[in-house]
Amino acid sequence: MSTPQLILKQRAELLAVLCGGGSAEPLDCVLDLLLAWEVLVWEDYLSIQVLPEEQKAGLCFGEECAVVGKNRPDTATLTLLADRPVLVRKLRDNIDGALNVLLTTDCFTIKDCDVVQLPVYTPSQQVRRLLDQVRFKGETAAKTLLQFLEQTETTRPNPEDKENHPSANCMLYQKKLRSSVAAQSHTLSTYGGTGHFSLDDIYTDGLLEVMDGSGETTTLGLEDVVGPVGTLNDDADTFLVSGEAGSGKSTLLQRLHLLWAREALLTNIFLLFPFSCRKLNAEHRELSLKELLFLHCCWPDRGQDEVFQFILDHPNLVLFTFDGLDEFKQGFTDEERHCCPTKQVPIPVLLFNLLQGTLMKGVMKVVTSRPQAVGPSLKRYLRKEVLLKGFSPGGIDCFVKKHHSDPAMARRVIESLQANSVLLSLCHIPVFCWIVTKCHQELLGSQDGIPQTITDVYLLVLQHFFQRKSYQPQGVLGKAWLEEHLDTVLKLGQLALESLEASCYVFSGYELQRIGLTEQDVSMGFLIYCNDLSVTDCKRYEFLHITLQCFFAAFYLVLNRNSDRSAIYRLFQPKNKQLSGLSQRCLGHCIDSSVEGVKSHVTETPNLQITAQFVSGLLSQRHHNLLQECCPTAVRERKAKQVVKSLSKGMQRHFKSIPRPVEGEKKSMHAMPSFVWLIKCIYEMQDSSIAQDTMAKLDVEHLKLTYCNIGPVECTALAYVLKYLRNPVGLQLDNNSVGDVGVEQLLPCLHICHSLYLRNNNISDEGIRKLLEKGMKCERFQKIALFNNNLTDACTQHFAWLLKSKQNFLSLRLGNNNITSQGAEQLAEGLSSNQSLQFLGLWGNKIGDRGAEALADALRNSTTLIWLSLVDNGVGSAGASALAKLISQSKTLEELW
Ligand code: ADP
Repeated sequence: MSTPQLILKQRAELLAVLCGGGSAEPLDCVLDLLLAWEVLVWEDYLSIQVLPEEQKAGLCFGEECAVVGKNRPDTATLTLLADRPVLVRKLRDNIDGALNVLLTTDCFTIKDCDVVQLPVYTPSQQVRRLLDQVRFKGETAAKTLLQFLEQTETTRPNPEDKENHPSANCMLYQKKLRSSVAAQSHTLSTYGGTGHFSLDDIYTDGLLEVMDGSGETTTLGLEDVVGPVGTLNDDADTFLVSGEAGSGKSTLLQRLHLLWAREALLTNIFLLFPFSCRKLNAEHRELSLKELLFLHCCWPDRGQDEVFQFILDHPNLVLFTFDGLDEFKQGFTDEERHCCPTKQVPIPVLLFNLLQGTLMKGVMKVVTSRPQAVGPSLKRYLRKEVLLKGFSPGGIDCFVKKHHSDPAMARRVIESLQANSVLLSLCHIPVFCWIVTKCHQELLGSQDGIPQTITDVYLLVLQHFFQRKSYQPQGVLGKAWLEEHLDTVLKLGQLALESLEASCYVFSGYELQRIGLTEQDVSMGFLIYCNDLSVTDCKRYEFLHITLQCFFAAFYLVLNRNSDRSAIYRLFQPKNKQLSGLSQRCLGHCIDSSVEGVKSHVTETPNLQITAQFVSGLLSQRHHNLLQECCPTAVRERKAKQVVKSLSKGMQRHFKSIPRPVEGEKKSMHAMPSFVWLIKCIYEMQDSSIAQDTMAKLDVEHLKLTYCNIGPVECTALAYVLKYLRNPVGLQLDNNSVGDVGVEQLLPCLHICHSLYLRNNNISDEGIRKLLEKGMKCERFQKIALFNNNLTDACTQHFAWLLKSKQNFLSLRLGNNNITSQGAEQLAEGLSSNQSLQFLGLWGNKIGDRGAEALADALRNSTTLIWLSLVDNGVGSAGASALAKLISQSKTLEELW
């Protein structure tokens, strides 16, 4: 195909590339080249300049063939033309200098300079106008400009350096951005009112994990969040940090921001732009990328276009962060493509195209979200996903010590946590840890017993805040405290619920007024001012934390006498059914009608689930006294019944989804995430008869809850409910974050487990000690799998005891831990007096020859062992010959790895 034919064939595509997106830059660049190659004569070029944009691409250019590679031109004017593409780039950062020279040599008048520097032009366009003007002025002006260029070349030794080197205006902007980001990230909002803590004082590292393609997890440090470890897709630039509500995502991002602002981390990033998705929800205008950056972060005082051009030219030096994608009203979609940085589009289009990399490819993006909001369509664009799993046990101690400057007080709080494993398990979630630590006085002096549920914990924080503002002496909040503050609670509740339903998390003063919230209500401290870089003309508020908004919403559902009778049922319904009901009642003022619809439910489901958990807790019999003056008993009981019925129905739906067992296989149920949620709601009710009734209907032999985000809190709830199962079950919890504290929480249901699978769960020797102490007494407990935890020789003595004392134990799998020859010797001791074990897995430890010899020796008399794995243990010839003897003597061993 000839070139003209080729062009004709691709005309539509060429038009889209040259004129699409509203930017003149692509076409101007092509025109520069065509002029330089003399494909286009000057008159043609001038006529194109006055045509409307969309017609430009339809032109047939003057001369037939390009004069590429001709001899150098002999006049200065022609040289400027031939070098035009290069000159546009070279002069872009030095327009002022060039104009100055042309002005002082009288080649240009002030008016000429003004024409060039019209603010509507980008720096590249300004250079083109300058070159056009010089050509018009003639040979002397062209020579002057060439001389100027020569001089600046010699004073600037490496032009490549200059390309990357930011101009003074860019440096100035960086300084401004750094100081705004530092100011914004200096304190945590949950400590905002007190003024006692800076982020530095209180920040405690959370547990960060990344999973590679094969499901192996690695622990990361903060600096690795945007590092190479765990990369799944090299073509993508979006890093996701995912974690449940309150796990510390926003705080982690804030720490990244602060460290960048101080040049202590991300030092290769020149500009960092922080965004909050909940605040972007409130932006209803269409914006260009430039407006988004400058309006929502900070505005350059000088050289806006130049700074923006720098950003466009150096994507590798720029980082965007988006906090709380799960709170963005619209679910992610990649249906609408947009790549033009100067065209104004709705915010979702801008955001989604940035995340995909269609717009500003190469800019790193760090996004935080709850896992539920990250669907397959977004996953395609993720470079990697980092899981934030809250505090480790050591992290909890560290946090408490940071919070209490008085070491004696810190010790008391830590001791009270150690003494109460339910509370300790809650503290793995930083936001709960914050409440528990903050409310230590109420906690240590509490007469109502130690908190057991998250509802208890949030009631504590409620009391704490009201106490702070009360005139009564410390620690004495009258029994009727809720009744006293009922009006405030209801108003906050109404605001919380109506806005949750509309995925709205930021409120104007007007909205507060509409609900009747007064200054005094606000001063209680549950609402805080939005911390925002962008310039807005009115104050905006948000709840201290999203979980607190859910708590108030739950209070409203429980206490509001006018709520419609099906409100509770709707809350517990699956999300697709929920939508229609909710959208009928949603607040008009919060909803953007253009986005409310099919995709909007993504954001509210997890929040409504947390709300449902609090509703269950508040309607529990335990809080009857607290609520009795605020809500007629009959209404409370009716609502409690509705909750119980909803939970039971929800469970039934799950049980019905259990497939019939394949012949020869166990009847097995792979739980869905909402199964864990329902279990947590049942736990909040703290009513054993409800747990018992629900579980009586579950008939499975194997319950699979792998990759379900199960931490210590979930373990508490699981054990509370599963202990009522009628028949023994295999409980598979592989690939969660159970940890030692979670293991302890599981003990109440151990008697009903014939097998326990805890692969990859951060469990250490201490967890095993407690587990086996109980396990030894559980007749049915026969199998355990602990592949890939943190076990050492310190746990093997406990297994030895188990093997000695439990002559029906069948399977012990300890692969990929840190067991050495010493540990193997301990195990051998137990094995020598055991006559039941059939499977022993030690793959990937370090037992060596000595360990293999000890095991082989101990197993020689076994009449039950079928399977043994010692792969990758550094076993040499001595070990092998001991194992050879074992093979020759054993009558049962079928497989040796
Ligand atoms: P998320 O964004 O996951 O909902 P946040 O970052 O808002 O969670 O955390 C909620 C609260 O928990 C914070 O306001 C803070 O008080 C506490 N917190 C979270 N992470 C940390 C941390 N790493 N160090 C200290 N406190 C933290």
